[in-house]
Amino acid sequence: MSVRGRRLTIAVVYPDLLGTYGDGGNGVILARRAAWRGIDVDLVQALSDRPLPTADLYSIGGGEDGPQARAATTLLEEGTLAARVAEGAVVLGVCAGFQVIGTTFPDSADRIQQGVGLLDLTTAKGTGKRAVGELVATPTPQAPRMATGGHLPRLTGFENHAGVSVVGPGAHTLARVERGVGNGGGDGTEGAWSGRVLGTYLHGPVLARNTALADLLLGWVLAPSDAPEGTGVPLEPLDDHEELALRAERLEAVDRAGGRGWRGLGRRVRVAR
Ligand code: GLN
Repeated sequence: MSVRGRRLTIAVVYPDLLGTYGDGGNGVILARRAAWRGIDVDLVQALSDRPLPTADLYSIGGGEDGPQARAATTLLEEGTLAARVAEGAVVLGVCAGFQVIGTTFPDSADRIQQGVGLLDLTTAKGTGKRAVGELVATPTPQAPRMATGGHLPRLTGFENHAGVSVVGPGAHTLARVERGVGNGGGDGTEGAWSGRVLGTYLHGPVLARNTALADLLLGWVLAPSDAPEGTGVPLEPLDDHEELALRAERLEAVDRAGGRGWRGLGRRVRVAR
């Protein structure tokens, strides 16, 4: 299937509320990787005081508890995100963005806040220390396959969250944690997905460190909206040697740190840099 000449709109959702962790970079990575393959892309920074634009992919990043609750309320009131997902739009939610696309999460006063409900996922405040540090996870058998049919490679990133999330039966887990905390609900899982909606605790930005995941999402965007769940269009390979070197450096640093807990791990990785 030729994708040259296709036109896509990628929206970074509410960077004024959810811009704390650099996840807006995911929009840039998707736009560049599409453009390198001859696809025209409009990359839109969708601010929270304007109607959410119609887009083919929505990228929602991490942020603090208060702005996160405001983002969820605004998205619920204005309704475009859920309507576009019903029409086949793709969503990537990272950390606060992951929690927001779930069913419920705690606000800054630990009251239950309604999420947009695109993923069967509930989040509560963790009772332990905040999860901060490098996070490495291996995709589960339930993870979406790459368009080539192969498994996604190990996922690398960093995490910084107090929320603990539990994936319900209506969603699939994305990965199993090797190092770090991930979803944190005690089952060792990281991230979730269903339909064309995928969420993760991985910052990095996650798509800079995991280009296979970026191409998986682009493949979903380019597939017909009635394609079976998880099915994407294969894309021509790119020269990813710089991105692969970044991945290797991060993964080696975590592997060197060995079986330490996530707190020591975060310190070790910073020194090794
Ligand atoms: N406020 C959320 C939490 O602490 C999300 C944090 C984030 O986006 N990094 O769980």
